[in-house]
Amino acid sequence: MIRAIIFDLDDTLCDYIGSVQAARELVLDQIIERYPHLDRGAVERASEDIFRDISQEILEMPLRAIYLKDVRALNREGFLRLFRRYALPDPDACAFAERYETLRRSHFQCFPEAKSALRTLAARYPLGLITNGPADNQAWEIEFLKIAPYFKIILIEGQLGFGKPEERIYRLALSALGADPGETLFVGNSLLHDIQGPQIIGMKTAWVNRCREPLHDQGPVPDHVVSSLEEIEGVLEEEQSPSGPRRNQTE
Ligand SMILES: [Mg+2]
Repeated sequence: MIRAIIFDLDDTLCDYIGSVQAARELVLDQIIERYPHLDRGAVERASEDIFRDISQEILEMPLRAIYLKDVRALNREGFLRLFRRYALPDPDACAFAERYETLRRSHFQCFPEAKSALRTLAARYPLGLITNGPADNQAWEIEFLKIAPYFKIILIEGQLGFGKPEERIYRLALSALGADPGETLFVGNSLLHDIQGPQIIGMKTAWVNRCREPLHDQGPVPDHVVSSLEEIEGVLEEEQSPSGPRRNQTE
């Protein structure tokens, strides 16, 4: 019997990756317009390498401390590395980092069905939100999307200094919701953060797989797989049925 639901935010309720991809394309166009001698493909590959390195480095100090607090400083670091690789001036790097962030925010939005799904579910269950990411950015996202009223508890990695898949962040949400792990459904797009982490402490899970990606043989197996949040109601009906849930489509 499910009595509470916890959601992930980025790429579960809102299109974070879409906003990043759109902003990267547009800012790249602007960089090439400003410096026509550069090769667009080469700059694009360099930028992918740099931001991939940064994603690795934010697992460690000192970038981790910046990542937890300040998304703009993190972007600035990426653009400075890129511009220095081409011997372009630092002030331009900072200006383009700001443009990138403005573009990203202007393309940021909820998935079309997210708010109506939250509205319906919040009327029947206490909802929680656990999101990894910088304190300033995640708080901005939640305010911009106007979704805070749907949740009884909102936990942000950047504010707490720890996040998914650490067990304590799931436990914190469960205690705020007054729910046991076995009667709570975790809904999210990350197999590590939203499926494996919650399953380790006994929560039920629904993997949001919008692009219908295959599961890895060795990876976690979600209890349910959905391609849209509209399907969560069906998941709850299955969980509530006396015969118990059917196994997911991977079996
Ligand atoms: Mg996510």
